Amino acid sequence: MTGAIIGDVVGSRFEFDNHKSKEFELFDKDCDFTDDSVMTIAVAKALMHYDKITDIEEFKMRLIYDMHEVGVRYPSCGYGGRFWVWMMRGGTEPYNSYGNGSAMRVSPVGWFASSLEECEMLAAATAEVTHNHPEGVKGAVSVAGAIYLARTGHSMQAIKEYVSKFYTIDFTLDEIRDDYDFYEICQKSVPQAFEAFFESTGFEDAVRNAISIGGDSDTIAAIAGSVAEAFYGVDEDMKETALSYLDDYLFDIADLFEKRIKKSVTRSGFESIYITDCGGIQPIPCINK
Ligand SMILES: [Mg+2]
Repeated sequence: MTGAIIGDVVGSRFEFDNHKSKEFELFDKDCDFTDDSVMTIAVAKALMHYDKITDIEEFKMRLIYDMHEVGVRYPSCGYGGRFWVWMMRGGTEPYNSYGNGSAMRVSPVGWFASSLEECEMLAAATAEVTHNHPEGVKGAVSVAGAIYLARTGHSMQAIKEYVSKFYTIDFTLDEIRDDYDFYEICQKSVPQAFEAFFESTGFEDAVRNAISIGGDSDTIAAIAGSVAEAFYGVDEDMKETALSYLDDYLFDIADLFEKRIKKSVTRSGFESIYITDCGGIQPIPCINK
C-alpha cells in the first residue's frame, strides 16, 4: 500500500504538468498527497475492521462508510467530478464508473487477502461501491491480483500471464510516450501502469517509468508503485519521506495497516502475512458509534 502513496506523492506535481522523462527529483516542495492516497487509506481503514471478511455486502457498507469518513476531510484533493459528488452527498449507490479510481485505491486488498480468489472477490467489492462498470471492476481486480501474486513470491512472468487475462498489452513505454495523453479511465491507464512495472528494474524505476509517459501521472504512478512495492519492496528512507507528506490522521491509518502486515524477504520481493490475531481491533474511532 505504501507503494501507492509514494507513487501518488511523487506523481502529484506532474498530473497537470506532465514530465515525459525519467529524470526528475522524486520528492519536491510541490509534491503532496492526493485522492489516490486518501482513498487507498480509506480502503485500508475499512479492511482493518476485519480479521476475515465473510459478508461481502456488509463489507461494502463498511467501505462506503469509511470512504465517506476519510474522504470528506479532504474535499479538494483531486477527486474526479462524479466521485466528489457521490462522496460529498453521502452517496451509497454506484454510478457505473470505469474511472481509474477503482484501480488506484485497491492495493490494501492485495495485502489483506489470504488467497487469490479472496483477493479478487474483495477487490471487486471495493470497485463496485462506485465503479461497478465491468471495466472499473476489471481495473481493481487485476491490480489487486497482481499485488497478491507479487507479494507471494510469483515471478514477473507469472504476473504478466495473470495480467494478460485482463489486458492485452502490446506496446512499450517508448512506443507510446510521445503520443500518450491524459486518460482517467481504467482501460487507458491501468495497462500503461502495468507496463511501467513490467519494464522496471526496481521500485523507484517503476515509478519513474510511470511518470515518464505523462497522462494521469499521480494515479499511474500510484498503481505501478503499488504493484512494484509488492514485488521489490520499498526503501525505508523513501517510504519515510513519502509518508511525511501525509497529515497525522492519514499517517496513523497507513502506519497501523503496515504494522498489521508482517513482511519477510523472499526471492526478489516480499512475502507478507496479514496478521489475523489482533482480535478484530477497531483501530480508528468511528464518528457514528
Ligand atoms: Mg490524484
